[in-house]
Amino acid sequence: MKKHNYSAGPSILPAPVLKEAAKAVANYQNSGLSLLELSHRGPEFTAIMEEANALLRELLELPDGYHTLWLTGGASTQFFMAPMNLLDDAQTAAYTDTGTWANKAIKEAKAFGNVEVVASSKADNYTHIPKKFKMHKNAAYLHFTSNNTIYGTQWHKFPKVDAPLVCDMSSDFLSRPFDVKPFGLIYAGAQKNLGPAGVTSVIVREDMLGKVQRHLPSMLDYRTFIKEDSLYNTPPVFPIYVSLLTMRWIKKNGGLKGIQRRNKAKAALLYNELDQNPLFRGVCAKEDRSLMNPCFVMAEGYTQLEKEFSKLCEENGIVGLKGHRSVGGFRASMYNGMPKSSVQVLVDLMQDFAKRKA
Ligand SMILES: *Cc1c(COP(=O)(O)O)cnc(C)c1O
Repeated sequence: MKKHNYSAGPSILPAPVLKEAAKAVANYQNSGLSLLELSHRGPEFTAIMEEANALLRELLELPDGYHTLWLTGGASTQFFMAPMNLLDDAQTAAYTDTGTWANKAIKEAKAFGNVEVVASSKADNYTHIPKKFKMHKNAAYLHFTSNNTIYGTQWHKFPKVDAPLVCDMSSDFLSRPFDVKPFGLIYAGAQKNLGPAGVTSVIVREDMLGKVQRHLPSMLDYRTFIKEDSLYNTPPVFPIYVSLLTMRWIKKNGGLKGIQRRNKAKAALLYNELDQNPLFRGVCAKEDRSLMNPCFVMAEGYTQLEKEFSKLCEENGIVGLKGHRSVGGFRASMYNGMPKSSVQVLVDLMQDFAKRKA
């Protein structure tokens, strides 16, 4: 049976990307060797790295002064690596609190300087994006989470402040075009929109670095990886290669504008159904709903049907629709790689369910 993968991460990748990746594991470009056994300093991987950097620059239209890095340790390592590199002990950084991941970033930053939480939607169980806030005057940066994977909200317009933006873009990286110039640092674990787990894409602006007094271990200093083109030590070669394949696929499908069009169409299909179907209810404020991770529950009076609907989904090849354990209900993660036809399968099931049960 065809599977429709709604997992939040690791998650769906475009079908042609997986096919090409499998070929590279078996026999990379007819070299008689697997990509997994090639030297990271050999000509094959050097070409992969160069193209990955060039494509990322091209897709995001990165101006001079920005560096693209491929690091390990997941977005969770960036929670501390970012403040370690950007925030001195006596300085203050502003953070927004929009959910679980934002909280983890806040917790880690506190070890390196003053942290001021300038906006939070915690009181409303993170069902919206707190857009009005008072920025700290001399903040080194403002940190935010562009898409809240667990609660299903997304910043559709980025905060406008004087300080440079630092952003955890893990779950909506390369899902839409945006102006990179207000950003000092962007990081994204690959396993949501870009590739397999194991690599973190980092974009950093040169002028953000070299300002803190503390000693930075080589492996935790962005400048090490800038100097060595992300090849200071052995990089995660396979996740980088698959990320490259995904970026090629994005370019072929109209670049970030084309991908955004696709993502908007998918989200509209599901949200329209949620707004009309009497059995289901979206959980977030309409204007802040995530295009990547729509969250929903059974509507009042129908909560007893949750198990039955889950079973129906399973029987029809839908995988990973369960909401995060801290939120419950359903979460339909619809990253770049998901085709609209898979969303249509879910929507048809919801309509069919309503005909029989409402
Ligand atoms: C998944 C996720 C993370 C955690 O990423 P790891 O690579 O597992 O450390 C952090 N932030 C956001 C927004 C995420 O969706």
